[in-house]
Amino acid sequence: MMEIVVQALLDKAVADARPYAEKGRLATYIPELTKANRRALGVCVVDLDGNHWRAGDFDTTFTIQSVSKVATLLYALETCGIQQVLSRIGAEQTADAFNSIIKLETRNSGKPLNPFINAGAIALIAMLMEAVGEDLLSALLDYLKTLTGNRTLSVDADVLRSERATGDINRALAYYQKGMHTFTADVTAVLDVYFHMCSLEVQVIDLARMAALIASNGRHPATGEHHFSAESARCAKVLMTTCGLYDSSGWFALEVGIPSKSGVGGGILSVVPGQFGIGVVGPSLDDKGNSIAGVELLRRLSRTQGWSLFA
Ligand code: GLU
Repeated sequence: MMEIVVQALLDKAVADARPYAEKGRLATYIPELTKANRRALGVCVVDLDGNHWRAGDFDTTFTIQSVSKVATLLYALETCGIQQVLSRIGAEQTADAFNSIIKLETRNSGKPLNPFINAGAIALIAMLMEAVGEDLLSALLDYLKTLTGNRTLSVDADVLRSERATGDINRALAYYQKGMHTFTADVTAVLDVYFHMCSLEVQVIDLARMAALIASNGRHPATGEHHFSAESARCAKVLMTTCGLYDSSGWFALEVGIPSKSGVGGGILSVVPGQFGIGVVGPSLDDKGNSIAGVELLRRLSRTQGWSLFA
């Protein structure tokens, strides 16, 4: 019975939200991303027992982009502790674009405001590189494979090449922070990890499984093993709620109210605490870089199911 109800709910949400894709645009600043299917919209929901439901274009493969910043954050919280993460990388909204440099200079002496903007994710990777050393990329990849349950996770080589070829703003963010003594790690090595973490190929089920782990405070449904602490899960959910949807995080909290993190590949990872993990893909983006139909799909699910934290 539950099967039929959830499936019908997802099928309807996809059908209702799909027309919104027409209002958005594909990301163009990484040339490889313009090859995506603009009309695609897919969703996967995973419950805390590991059952899953999928609808729409759920078999679309896309690059994870900034959604990987959630995994990097969890890994940093587990490796370095919440105090160090918060003292070196803040937990405040920026109200600026995800790749903006302005507040590094005007507000915070080179310290980024949160781990979900590019400057913050770069600083987080640098902090981890200082702690873990050269094996960081394989450690992070392994962690992401564990969180998604996808042991075959790999990089889209064309997107990686495109990220490197067009990544000068990210280089600027990294060099500026190093120049301000935010970190000491080697910039080229840090960016290599950052570009790899953006270029991983995923499907919505991968995001939904990772989200379900956060929804269950780190506990794996099958093994009972904890992949991160409840405190790390709490920190991730807070930051997703306040900073997860770029500079429309406040609007998203009002309209949807589900802790989420988006990426410019069109993915969104969403956590209904204690209930479900959700993965969404819709490569057509709004002017902030969020999946336009994906946000609408989540808005409809949240409204009909009462999934807003603030309902
Ligand atoms: N690779 C993208 C960048 O670094 C990620 C941006 C995003 O998804 O927010 O600009």
